[in-house]
Amino acid sequence: MKIAIVPGSFDPVTNGHIDIIKRTAELFDEVYVGILINSSKKPLFTVEERIELLKKVTKDIKNVKIESFCGLLVDFARAKKASCIVKGLRAVSDYEYEVQMALTNKQIAPEIETLFIPTNGLYSYLSSSIVKEVAKYGGDLTQMLPNEIIEVIQNKIGGKQ
Ligand code: ADP
Repeated sequence: MKIAIVPGSFDPVTNGHIDIIKRTAELFDEVYVGILINSSKKPLFTVEERIELLKKVTKDIKNVKIESFCGLLVDFARAKKASCIVKGLRAVSDYEYEVQMALTNKQIAPEIETLFIPTNGLYSYLSSSIVKEVAKYGGDLTQMLPNEIIEVIQNKIGGKQ
């Protein structure tokens, strides 16, 4: 049984994340999407909301489970008996940080591998922060998010103004 973790903040989940989750689900028997609870960041969506949104957009992928975690990613991976952490790479700018994280994780948990999957070219520009910025000013989000998330973010950001 090959198990992978796809970690992130997912604030909110974008088409770029979904693409990486789907491709990981093709490669592994079981995939845990791990939402990192990071007390130093101020997220737009609560952890419960992010879990619910991720569950909604991955409901058709049978081998994907959504969970949140705090603390070290490798501890979460070990708890789930995962052998691999999967990260999407958008651009060279992601690379330096991601390699540093991968090497650190390898140092503290040598049995866990990190696998990088290059972004789908359609989504190489896409991040959760870009989505929030576009939503704030009422821009078109149809290429960036599934429809059900567009509605939720518009309500949330609209409600904030
Ligand atoms: P963001 O950087 O959008 O705030 P996260 O912190 O939730 O996203 O990122 C979690 C993981 O998802 C990271 O490995 C990141 O590189 C990857 N990822 C985010 N957006 C994309 C995208 N558009 N294409 C491929 N991978 C992505």
